[in-house]
Amino acid sequence: MSDLSEFSLIQHYFEQLTAKRDDVLLGIGDDCALLQCPEDEVLAVSIDTLVENVHFFSDVDPESLGHKSLAVGLSDLAAMGAKPKWFTLALTLPEVHEVWLKKFSQGLAKLANEFKVQLVGGDTTKGPLSISIQVHGFVDPEKALRRDGAQVGDLIYVTNTLGDAGAALKLAQSELVNESFDNEDKRYLTRRLECPTPRLNLGQKLIGIASAAIDISDGLVADLGHILEKSSVGSRIDLARLPLSASLLKLERAEAEHLALYSGDDYELCFTAPANHYTEIEDMFQGQCTRIGVITNDDGIVVIENDKLKSLKNKGYDHFSNS
Ligand SMILES: [Mg+2]
Repeated sequence: MSDLSEFSLIQHYFEQLTAKRDDVLLGIGDDCALLQCPEDEVLAVSIDTLVENVHFFSDVDPESLGHKSLAVGLSDLAAMGAKPKWFTLALTLPEVHEVWLKKFSQGLAKLANEFKVQLVGGDTTKGPLSISIQVHGFVDPEKALRRDGAQVGDLIYVTNTLGDAGAALKLAQSELVNESFDNEDKRYLTRRLECPTPRLNLGQKLIGIASAAIDISDGLVADLGHILEKSSVGSRIDLARLPLSASLLKLERAEAEHLALYSGDDYELCFTAPANHYTEIEDMFQGQCTRIGVITNDDGIVVIENDKLKSLKNKGYDHFSNS
C-alpha cells in the first residue's frame, strides 16, 4: 500500500473517532469544519505539541499518549473555566503502525467522549513522531479565569496533590531511589505522569469564585509565578500545607516538597480566591483542593518553613533553559 492511501485510511479512521455534537454543522471531510458558536460566550483556544523523546518516551503506552495529548489542552480550558467543545489534531508519524494507532486513538477517544468534545479536523503527515492538538471551548468573557486577577489578601489553592508526575519522571530516568516505592506506588505515580486528569468540572465551578487561575504544567513555583507576575502581587506559601500523596511521602519530606514545588506535568489547577469565599470553597470542593498560602505584597514567592520565611527563586521547568 502506498503511503498516501495508508494516510488517507488514517483520516477516514479518525473521522469516526468521537461522538457527534449538535453544534458541529460540518465536521471532518471538507476544507474546513463549520461550528456553531454560542451568542453570549467567547471562544477559548489553546494548542499543545508533544514530541517523541522531548515530551514522552518512545516506549510510552500509546493509549496513555492518546489520553495525554488531549488532556494537556483540556487542562488549559479548565484553567480558564471554559466548557470544552471541539478539537483538531495534527499527527506526524514515521510509519503507519496499526496496533499503535488503534491504541493511541482509543486513549484519545475515551477522554474526548468523557467530556463530550468532538474531533472536527486534522492533518496527518509522515515524519518524526509528534502530536499537536488544538482545543476549543467557550466561556463568559467577563468571568473567564485569567492569570491577572489575583489581589493582596486572596487565598491560594491547588487541586489534588502535587509532585507525583515529577516523581514518576525521575523514577523513569533512574534519578530516584527505586526502593522507596512498592509496585502500587510506581503504578500510581506513572499514571499521574502519563494520564493526567483535566480538572474541567472544577474549573467551571470556580467561575464567580476564583480571582485568578492557571494549570500546573511546569511546576507550582513557575506557574504560580505567572499569576503573581500578571497580577503584580507576591505570595506566601506554607510548605507544611502542600498536598502530597501517600506515595510521594515515602520519599524524604524535603525531597517530596521539592518535587511539589518545582516538577511539572501534574496538570492540577492553582487558583486564588478572595478570603470571603473560604467557606464556600471548603463546602463545594471538599478535599479536592487545598489552601496553601496567601497573596501578599512580597517580591515573588516566599515560603514559610518551620515558622521561618524563605524567598524562592523561580526554578520551574523552562523548555528553553540550558541550566
Ligand atoms: Mg496552561
